[in-house]
Amino acid sequence: MHHQSDLIYGEAYKKYKVSSPCNVVVVGAGTAGLEAACTAAEVGCHVTLLEKTDKIGGLSVEISKIPAKKRLADFPTYLKARAGQLENLTILTNTEGTLERVRQYHPHLVVNATGSVPILPPIDGLAQQLQSSAPVFSILDFIAEVERYPEDLSGKRVVVVGGGAVGLDVVEFFVSRNAQITLVEMLPTIGNGLDASSIASVKEFLQKGQVRQLTGTALTKVLPDAFLVNQNGTEETLPFDYGFVCLGMKAYAPVLAELSDGFLGEPVEVLNIGDSVRARRIIDGTDAGRHLVLNALDQMGFLDIIR
Ligand SMILES: Cc1cc2nc3c(=O)[nH]c(=O)nc-3n(C[C@H](O)[C@H](O)[C@H](O)COP(=O)(O)OP(=O)(O)OC[C@H]3O[C@@H](n4cnc5c(N)ncnc54)[C@H](O)[C@@H]3O)c2cc1C
Repeated sequence: MHHQSDLIYGEAYKKYKVSSPCNVVVVGAGTAGLEAACTAAEVGCHVTLLEKTDKIGGLSVEISKIPAKKRLADFPTYLKARAGQLENLTILTNTEGTLERVRQYHPHLVVNATGSVPILPPIDGLAQQLQSSAPVFSILDFIAEVERYPEDLSGKRVVVVGGGAVGLDVVEFFVSRNAQITLVEMLPTIGNGLDASSIASVKEFLQKGQVRQLTGTALTKVLPDAFLVNQNGTEETLPFDYGFVCLGMKAYAPVLAELSDGFLGEPVEVLNIGDSVRARRIIDGTDAGRHLVLNALDQMGFLDIIR
């Protein structure tokens, strides 16, 4: 077993090398999948990375379109450059990872890294309004349109439901555009689970934007131009020009069970890494991409330590 501190980005090949031919298939070219694919290729595996969209980098590329998150683009940019130098790594875009396709590459190791999707509970009217032309948006809709919002939104009413990390990114964006913001959170506090320094900056922009904070308040109904909320049994209607439902992200692993079942009883290891395990930070997925892949290769007897 490897010591995690032994391994830094892009340097596993200095310590480990595969001792016999090994095929690896990675499903999903976000930051976690890219790190897994690069690491496996760098130690000498023959790697195929399947990405269903026409782009690589996944959610990190999208999020970096939010002005305050611009620097996150460094992750996928670095990983793309690393991948580009590896002749034994093939990236296929517009290619969905299915059991049938993965099998074509005769893998010894399969890595599922299919990311996450927004949490959208069955709240009255939510699914319907998200699909309509009403100004009701999920976090992914917000990011898709982020470059189109006018610089000055003075007087515009923005209501954000969800006071966790995702909702607070949206609030911060509209504070910088002078909108009139209401933040709705079901828990008693805003920014649950954030570290102390993030909390401090959250407090600052909530104050700067004079954000109305409704904690202990649940969303009960979504109308085309208003949210109905309930605080301790009291209903309130919150009209908006833009309404956002940001209740966090949840793991998305549509092919994992098919892959695990499909290779059962065969000498093929199937791993799940990154947001498709649990929505988390980029660094958590890339760490897993590196360590779990090397550990799996080691346990399967493919790795030699270079002395
Ligand atoms: C609003 C917001 C702000 C965030 N801010 C930060 C932050 O400041 N710092 C931080 O570290 N993290 C942040 N995160 C979290 C971070 O974006 C994710 O943890 C990270 O991008 C997930 O990487 P991933 O590779 O696991 O998944 P993704 O990047 O989602 O990649 C999954 C890939 O798999 C592909 N795929 C899915 N199914 C298939 C299939 N069947 N076949 C082939 N391909 C498939 C998808 O198209 C996608 O390209 C934020 C998240 C959100 C929503």
